Amino acid sequence: MNMMKNQNVSLHHSHTPNAVQGRYDTLRLISWWQQEKVSKTKAMVVGAGALGNEILKNLALVGIGHILIIDFDIVEAANLTRSVLFRAEDIGKLKAEVAAQRLKELNPDVKVAYICGDITSDVGLGVFRSMDVVLVGVDNFGARIFVNRACFKVGTPWINGGIQELVGEFHLYIPGKGACYECNLPTEAYKEIKNRLSCLLPIEEVEQGRVPTTPTIASIVGGLQVQEALKLIHGHKVTGGSGLIFNGLTNECLPANFPLNERCLNHNPLKSVFTTGSGADDFTFGELLNMAEQKLGAGAAIHLDFDLVFRASCSCGYNEQILKRLDKLSSNELRCPKCKKLMQPHITSNISNATPWFLDKTLTQGQVPPFHIITARNAKSAVHFELDADRDKVLNFT
Ligand SMILES: [Zn+2]
Ligand SMILES: [Zn+2]
Repeated sequence: MNMMKNQNVSLHHSHTPNAVQGRYDTLRLISWWQQEKVSKTKAMVVGAGALGNEILKNLALVGIGHILIIDFDIVEAANLTRSVLFRAEDIGKLKAEVAAQRLKELNPDVKVAYICGDITSDVGLGVFRSMDVVLVGVDNFGARIFVNRACFKVGTPWINGGIQELVGEFHLYIPGKGACYECNLPTEAYKEIKNRLSCLLPIEEVEQGRVPTTPTIASIVGGLQVQEALKLIHGHKVTGGSGLIFNGLTNECLPANFPLNERCLNHNPLKSVFTTGSGADDFTFGELLNMAEQKLGAGAAIHLDFDLVFRASCSCGYNEQILKRLDKLSSNELRCPKCKKLMQPHITSNISNATPWFLDKTLTQGQVPPFHIITARNAKSAVHFELDADRDKVLNFT
């Protein structure tokens, strides 16, 4: 209660802020607050569920200048107890789209864009590279591991959040400064990502775990995540790998600082990223390979960071050309039209002159997400190519 008497607060009461001009006046009373830095920030929020709603709401309230929302889901009735941005009339609509619209209502100053897709397959690495911070509010290891690897490749800090019933935690990870998410991850966590990628368990059969959560723990953890982002933006002392675990049942609160694991493989940022002046829709693998050969010489090969299925074959002798990511292939697509057995997918992630049938295909046909950064290698070194012409299409902030 002492705080109510302090000088700053009475100063605030001494003049009535103008409704529009004065939107950030109270924030500016914080001695270190710099609204200009907040307004310049580009933040990506992965997941627009219970946690994502709280993160997004806070980012918009403080006037984070550019907010990108990633979510593939639609609003359901059960979301309404935990999602401040959703209304009953939104049921059936895209979460990302509805959230984007509500953020503009909350604060017309913020520019918002959204991608209705899966973070692990639909968001190019160039998107990560363009962001100042990534905040994660998803409930699966696979997505978190993906974000961790992407952020550490391109040097973007990220803030993880997790909630279950009344327990929540958050952690900050800064490339080049301390632990990453995987430095201390137990091996069991990788079972989930393996299941997601296994062709024995096609995407629609992987159970989407529903974690019971409350709006209270979501607002606590979402608040902590955005608070940490604000400290980061303002240059306060923050520590990579540090965070907090809060048990709301007992009100126990433990700082949890993860140590850097020297053997962790995620601490090598991409060097030599070149822009291509092209986008995924009108750039072929052949053109990209030419570009790679100019940098690396003959013998260069394109290395995709996902498994691309290019053919499916059946024991009955049936054969089919396919061009689809393994993690996006459903069991129906692998069902043999002749005998109804499951066909064997043939997979590659290397494209070179040894695989000429790929060279006239566009990167979009090869399921490379727009604004991605693609790696090419020879025996000695690697170079990376950004599909920078996709920038405005993907980061369509309005
Ligand atoms: Zn690590
Ligand atoms: Zn067959």
